[in-house]
Amino acid sequence: MAKRDYYEVLGVGRDASEEEIKKAYRKLALQYHPDKNPGDKGAEERFKEATEAYEVLKDPQKRGQYDQFGHAAAPGFGGFEGFRGFETFDLSDALRAFMRDFGGFGGLDDLFGTATRRAGPQRGRDLQVHLKLRLEEIATGIEKTIKLKHLVKCSSCGGGGAAPGSSTGSCPQCGGSGEERHISRSIFGQFVKASTCRRCGGEGRTIDKPCPTCRGEGRRSGTGTIKVKVPPGVTSGNYITVRGAGDVGPRGGPPGNLIVVIEELEHKDFRRHGDDIVYELPISFSHAALGAQVVVPTLEGRVKLKIPPGTQSGKLFRLRGKGIPHLNSYGRGDQLIRVFVWTPTKLSPEERELFEQLLKTEGSKPPPADRGFFDRLRETLGV
Ligand SMILES: [Zn+2]
Ligand SMILES: [Zn+2]
Repeated sequence: MAKRDYYEVLGVGRDASEEEIKKAYRKLALQYHPDKNPGDKGAEERFKEATEAYEVLKDPQKRGQYDQFGHAAAPGFGGFEGFRGFETFDLSDALRAFMRDFGGFGGLDDLFGTATRRAGPQRGRDLQVHLKLRLEEIATGIEKTIKLKHLVKCSSCGGGGAAPGSSTGSCPQCGGSGEERHISRSIFGQFVKASTCRRCGGEGRTIDKPCPTCRGEGRRSGTGTIKVKVPPGVTSGNYITVRGAGDVGPRGGPPGNLIVVIEELEHKDFRRHGDDIVYELPISFSHAALGAQVVVPTLEGRVKLKIPPGTQSGKLFRLRGKGIPHLNSYGRGDQLIRVFVWTPTKLSPEERELFEQLLKTEGSKPPPADRGFFDRLRETLGV
């Protein structure tokens, strides 16, 4: 299904201020929030859609890219809709983004004026790791094994936190609801204020005898390995979410996610410009004047390149399709080869004599500086 325009999703004009965007999003998010529309898939979709639009339009840089390139710019947006086959912007991401900007201390209870909290174990923390990749690995895509330190279920108590043989029961303070209710009366009527139960911390259960191995936590530190499949064409700042690979929650709580952030290592030969790569090739005076056959590296090995006679310093050659594959679509960038004429710094007596002879016989003079050349260079390199 085609994505709707982000401005249209939020119902704001293209010149909307940050404040207007925030207001429009808040209104939609409160209307379609899953806690207000339990089980309503349509509302959930609208909530995700609005949050995604908000995440892009609230950020001036991402908004600028979006205005220029539309949804095609999305792979550079920190990855939240970047990877085909990976769930990178799902409901939990959307909920977190919403809570980050509008949650406040009271959370949804305050926003909706109702108590929506459910009793139960807490979710574990999300973890973040950085994955350093070489340009060659980015070009092909790669599966990497990541070693991980995270909290795992305690094997003695199975994660429940109770000592083997002991029992757990409903919290006597809150009766298992996980929250305490305080009723107050005023001339306007009766108010019910709900807060997290202090006895059980909102879990709704109490443990008679805590497990001695984990001291009732239900989890312990452990290590593991995770395989991550990185698609070709990623760039620094893109991330991949591995569901459930974060810390497990306390006392049977569900695990958080692992967020793998891509970091691109600098390459000794190539510089990256979007999906193009640039290689600088020094050639001698003689090769520039007479032409030459040279060998240049590419991401897939060395190739021959013909330098035609009379090549100027700064000339760009383009090897089509030898760059980085486009993330999320077909085709790939090019390799640009920028030739520069290398001037010898030390001359042998023989070379000096030849240059002096050349100077005497030299016919053609260089043309006046060509402004157009720099413009063309900037255009090609996108700088
Ligand atoms: Zn235990
Ligand atoms: Zn309780």
